[in-house]
Amino acid sequence: MNIVLLGAPGAGKGTLAGALKDQLGVHHISTGDLIRLEIKGGTAIGLEIKRYVESGGLVPDEVVTRMIEGKIKATVADKKGYMFDGFPRTTAQAKELDRIMQENKIELGFALYMEASMDVVLKRLTGRRVCKACGALYHLTNMPSKKAGICDTCGGDLYQRADDNEETIRKRMSVYNESTRPIIDYYKAQGKLKAINADNGADDVKGALLKILNEKKS
Ligand code: ADP
Ligand code: ZN
Repeated sequence: MNIVLLGAPGAGKGTLAGALKDQLGVHHISTGDLIRLEIKGGTAIGLEIKRYVESGGLVPDEVVTRMIEGKIKATVADKKGYMFDGFPRTTAQAKELDRIMQENKIELGFALYMEASMDVVLKRLTGRRVCKACGALYHLTNMPSKKAGICDTCGGDLYQRADDNEETIRKRMSVYNESTRPIIDYYKAQGKLKAINADNGADDVKGALLKILNEKKS
């Protein structure tokens, strides 16, 4: 099964994918994680794209598309399927994903639109903490780690992403509304859009996706 997770920053895409990737046996591909890895590694690509991420803008379509295409080509043979998190983010990227899937003979099951309200996502983003070592996601009040500042699963240090500050969050929201929101209609037109209420807690959101998957099977 191949699923695209759609929704504003803070809608819970990464949390949902993290919670279900093992159970569903799919690859979780997060362009945000891939991008942060390049930046952290100080690669040529990393140096080129750092400024976009830090300002809350989008990395150029060609760069992220190349990343995604490379990941898919390297793993498609295992037939596990994918959960795409944070990609596509523009209509051009959505079209590229259609092309890449076609060329690799895989098909999109559906795009899951995680609909969340502005005050909810703002609270989630400002309280978000991430494990430096394994990337696990936490939230100061909604999903705190057992020991403050320490990852439950690997013991790594938790940090706040540089782009999770109020000013950059505001920029990311306007970029989302302008560039990413139109993709909802793109998938609706293909008859591939499913929407869920993402204001709910992580367990309810997870349940909503599992329900859709069960309905698909029967
Ligand atoms: P969030 O969903 O909280 O905004 P991500 O980790 O998905 O966080 O993305 C962080 C940043 O990485 C984005 O603000 C953007 O700069 C860049 N990025 C991630 N995915 C893409 C993409 N598909 N296209 C362009 N830029 C991207
Ligand atoms: Zn960890």
